Amino acid sequence: MSFVIPPAPIVAVPVRGGGRFPVHRIYCVGRNYAEHAREMGESGREAPFFFMKPADAVVAVGEGQSGEIAYPSLTQNLHHEVELVVAIGQGGRDIDVADAAQHIFGYAVGLDMTRRDLQAQMKKDGRPWSIAKGFDQSAPIGTIVARAPAAPALSAGAITLAVNGQPRQRGDLRELIWSVAETIAHLSRAWTLQPGDLIFTGTPAGVGAVVRGDHLQAHIDGLPELSVVVR
Ligand code: MN
Repeated sequence: MSFVIPPAPIVAVPVRGGGRFPVHRIYCVGRNYAEHAREMGESGREAPFFFMKPADAVVAVGEGQSGEIAYPSLTQNLHHEVELVVAIGQGGRDIDVADAAQHIFGYAVGLDMTRRDLQAQMKKDGRPWSIAKGFDQSAPIGTIVARAPAAPALSAGAITLAVNGQPRQRGDLRELIWSVAETIAHLSRAWTLQPGDLIFTGTPAGVGAVVRGDHLQAHIDGLPELSVVVR
């Protein structure tokens, strides 16, 4: 049976060494570093909570290249959030923390771009965050590096973001409130994870605004840098 309109193209992210990772869903963890939770006015360890971005919010940036995003409509306060992104290679539900690593295909550096003014308004009104988090081009992501066979889930390494060469965010994956393995376990109780799912695992402190022309350089130890310019 033929399609009545053209089917959406497959969204894909390049993988170091060749090949492309097809994106199914994008899950994001909120407030997963204590210092960032404090800067957002929250404190204490709460159960992880999740929101989503559409798969086609991805802007895939190849290694050694610079990507571009358009400054989005409806905001005067576009924020950067540098995050470790986990790429799921093997699906499952009710995954145990001890088994979580084997569901991981690999990792990348991502940016959870956020219309912070709209997010603040939606929080105040008790409304969904979609317009603040799930807009077009809100998920730039760098090249994925495959997990080494039998390696445990990534749990340490510097995570930083600079804008026009000036340091803005700095943290370490050790500071994750919910580890990568714990996040996978929690998520898989709420949704059946599928190959192709991406998980944005939260951002360290130092989030802030960007303007047109800004050059964002996002870094996590051991992963390809993510370079993005706001147009
Ligand atoms: Mn985030």
